[in-house]
Amino acid sequence: MKVFISADMEGISGVATNQQLKTNSEYQRFRKLMTADVNAAIEGAFNGGAKEVVVADGHGNMSNILVEELDPRARLVSGNNRVMCQLEGLDDTFDGIMFVGHHGREAGSERTVISHTLAGICVNEMKVNDRVVGETEMNTLVAGGFNVPAIFISGDDAYVKEVQETLPDVKGAVTKRAVDRFAAELLHPEVARKEIREKAELAVKEIKSFKPQTVEGPVTFNIEFKGPQQAMMTTTLPTVELTGPRSIRFTCDDIVTAYKHMWGCVIIAMTATNGVLGSVNA
Ligand SMILES: [Zn+2]
Repeated sequence: MKVFISADMEGISGVATNQQLKTNSEYQRFRKLMTADVNAAIEGAFNGGAKEVVVADGHGNMSNILVEELDPRARLVSGNNRVMCQLEGLDDTFDGIMFVGHHGREAGSERTVISHTLAGICVNEMKVNDRVVGETEMNTLVAGGFNVPAIFISGDDAYVKEVQETLPDVKGAVTKRAVDRFAAELLHPEVARKEIREKAELAVKEIKSFKPQTVEGPVTFNIEFKGPQQAMMTTTLPTVELTGPRSIRFTCDDIVTAYKHMWGCVIIAMTATNGVLGSVNA
């Protein structure tokens, strides 16, 4: 049995503010905490019967997890030039996907800690076939394209509630109580990790009861960006239609292709924030 873990940082036990996740001395502490939460999920997965675990580091520069401290039974996808973004390495050989340390969507719950959708600098709202999605919901639909069900999530209480509105059966480990976007009532990391370990184990033991979320036929993404310059530069792609000063739409034949296309648009939008050639030394 193979389990895929998509790991993010905002929902990791101990995290309460954005500054803790930026490259500074605080960040080094939080990389260790992230690695420890992921290890708890890996241990739970193996205890539940998994034989193989692949972890994709999906926060910021996607190189946060300390490989030397990772459970040696797991493999790690690290680094950020990835066509499949937070799901690099996922394919139809996996039996379930877990989301460790994830967070609520931009403009979702008012409380969820450091809420955003994929790239806070540019994305205001993301819709898949007219349904507003956060990262977990979107990634779950993409995993469904590989016939892989979402089985476990961990993060703050508002995030877990938000996801369970559309994925009521997914096992949720609450790592903290969200007070505000930049404040939380924290559990001790050891307490949170026990919850992660136990719920992850349960999820894998019951893996056969989870159904993948699939999308039939062509998939349309509507993305509302924060700035008009971000939306405009994505129309360099012939598939993209401008639907408003800050919004775009495109359609692809299937969810996996549409996800890659969405990621391409977000990369363009991020680089367009302050002018696309602003940081190029050519
Ligand atoms: Zn993140």
